[in-house]
Amino acid sequence: MNEPWDVAIIGAGPAGATAAIVLARAGAKVLLCDKKDFPREKVCGDALTPDALRVLARLGLLDEVSRRGRVVDAASGFSASRIEVRIPARFVTIRRVDFDAFLVETAVAAGATFEKLTVTSIDDPHTTPRVGPFTARVVLVATGADVVLAGRLGLPMGRPDGLAIRGYVRSPVEIDRLILSLDRAILPGYGWIFPLTGGEYNVGVGVFRRRAADGVNLRVHFTRFLESFPLAKALMADGAFVAEPKGARLRCGLKESAMTVGRVVRIGESIGTTFQFTGEGIGKAMESAEVATRIVLEYLTTGDDACLQRYPAAIAAELKPKYRGYEIAEHVLSTAWVGDLLARRAAASPSIGRVLEGIVNETIDPVQLFAKVSTIPLPPGARPFVSRLARGD
Ligand SMILES: Cc1cc2nc3c(=O)[nH]c(=O)nc-3n(C[C@H](O)[C@H](O)[C@H](O)COP(=O)(O)OP(=O)(O)OC[C@H]3O[C@@H](n4cnc5c(N)ncnc54)[C@H](O)[C@@H]3O)c2cc1C
Repeated sequence: MNEPWDVAIIGAGPAGATAAIVLARAGAKVLLCDKKDFPREKVCGDALTPDALRVLARLGLLDEVSRRGRVVDAASGFSASRIEVRIPARFVTIRRVDFDAFLVETAVAAGATFEKLTVTSIDDPHTTPRVGPFTARVVLVATGADVVLAGRLGLPMGRPDGLAIRGYVRSPVEIDRLILSLDRAILPGYGWIFPLTGGEYNVGVGVFRRRAADGVNLRVHFTRFLESFPLAKALMADGAFVAEPKGARLRCGLKESAMTVGRVVRIGESIGTTFQFTGEGIGKAMESAEVATRIVLEYLTTGDDACLQRYPAAIAAELKPKYRGYEIAEHVLSTAWVGDLLARRAAASPSIGRVLEGIVNETIDPVQLFAKVSTIPLPPGARPFVSRLARGD
């Protein structure tokens, strides 16, 4: 166990486990550490969006994950005035306790070694990084929204951006699609109902912007959502929580600039890969791991430190542009009437419906949606507001 490892990965969530799978399959000696033993719970909405499904397909794991979870073929967004917009798209819901354990099992089957270890420091990051009793040529930090370790490395820790709470509800009511509600009680956040296997639902509310999340009592919003949103009310009428709801912080918007320190590279939510406004983060955490593993494999082959220093630029080029539209959406849709207007248009217009479908599938940049909205008749004074946001002013 004390041999020098090619790569030590700290944190075995979707980012760390994806990196472990790719690197171990490529023949690297990989140590994957987590402070928890698996299976372990992770507070989440448990919905895999199309970006996560594409990474799983590239890893050859999509069929198995789809078999273990529930395949859902649409999402419905509700505006503040309850106007419904249906978006056809493929999702898979799977409890994180099962999904993350499956990824760790896959990494171990590929040759990685799993070690339960709470890492409190990384010594000698510029030469031979040391993680507890282990040394490695490269260390990947994949600790999610927990950035204590980054702080110990002398990196700016920033503050979390979002806050969300979720619970599991068992109910006889059948809801067959992902439900998202821009509920007046929660704006600028939203409430969700995601169907799982076994007659259970992941139900929650979240606020994914720092100033809005500060000082918010999310449990109060959660209760209001359950009591006022019609589908949630129906679900709870004959349903009940199977466990006490739990909350967690999120880091969103890929704002973190300190991504490498010597031979230490940060991936996943530790650099804020989660989308603002929607709080989706599993797919983007996995994608950041894919970017990092390409670079780490090049470094392991060449021993050239310059490879690792290219990582922030690779993230900026490959992932960063996708965040702009979500930042705009967060501003635009947190105003109830704009959400209502957009929903009314989308419900009536197949072309806006197709744009929404493209956004979910990441074939269309969300910025295009706001550009489209700014070309339609709007109430007095609204057009300049929406077009300014679309331009990013
Ligand atoms: C309520 C809620 C709902 C959400 N819903 C969704 C959703 O439906 N879909 C979606 O795509 N995203 C969702 N997200 C976001 C998603 O959960 C995260 O983006 C995702 O988990 C990030 O993956 P990660 O691998 O970077 O970090 P994590 O999954 O957080 O994994 C980090 C791991 O590091 C370990 N760790 C931390 N510190 C140390 C240490 N010092 N030493 C050793 N191990 C350590 C932790 O134990 C953990 O296992 C939600 C988040 C919340 C809070």
